[in-house]
Amino acid sequence: MTYSVSPVGFVHSCFKEKFAIPRQPQLAPAARGVLELVAPYDQGDAVQGLEQVSHIWLLFVFHKALEDKPRLKVRPPRLGGNKSIGVFATRATHRPNGMGQSVVKLDKVEAGRLFISGIDLLDGTPILDIKPYVPYADIIDSASNSMASAPPVLIPVHWTDSALQQAHSHALRLQEPLVALIDQCLAQDPRPAYQTPTAEREYGAGFWDVDVRWHYPQPGVIRVLEVISKQ
Ligand code: SAM
Repeated sequence: MTYSVSPVGFVHSCFKEKFAIPRQPQLAPAARGVLELVAPYDQGDAVQGLEQVSHIWLLFVFHKALEDKPRLKVRPPRLGGNKSIGVFATRATHRPNGMGQSVVKLDKVEAGRLFISGIDLLDGTPILDIKPYVPYADIIDSASNSMASAPPVLIPVHWTDSALQQAHSHALRLQEPLVALIDQCLAQDPRPAYQTPTAEREYGAGFWDVDVRWHYPQPGVIRVLEVISKQ
């Protein structure tokens, strides 16, 4: 049996590529976006009352990770990327029906537009449904998950003077907390766990309309080298 679903909206996100997006929501509070609703949900009626809610659940499609062949086991980055485990024991993007779920902060509600932060969503992500977070039902004090018992360990992020200046001026232009966004995302060390980069090796990722380049001057330390407009 098949069921068809269609998006209620799409996210305009600070994340323009998958690399360096936090692995879960709430890990980068400066990660912001706008959820643009589509007809008929783009009218005030559909979001009436939502301003009473601080956080929402977003159910979405991993639209840039869809696959035809079902996977029973996956290798989550959390386990170093080299240990496989049952797909239902993970939040991996490659999964049945390609569906994801994230709790995000709801900063502002307008007819047809929801301003959200703490997101882990790629630009253009199709949203299938939106539900209010309900603390009494959604917080489970006794819950445990021994595979993912704590947020990722953060590493120090240093900046060259020029990169910090560049980031501040792009932040002003964009009217976005760009320095905090880069700090928060890079501190989670986006590099795949199996890579041991030399100090010469540079990494890069896109945030809003800028490219950020960094390296690891020593193991476990990041230095941001450049924050420049995308070519
Ligand atoms: N919180 C969600 C969940 O548990 O279902 C997502 C978890 S998933 C591990 C998070 C990763 O999904 C991000 O780091 C990003 O690389 C990837 N991602 C986000 N939006 C995506 C999209 N629309 N298509 C493909 N991958 C996406």
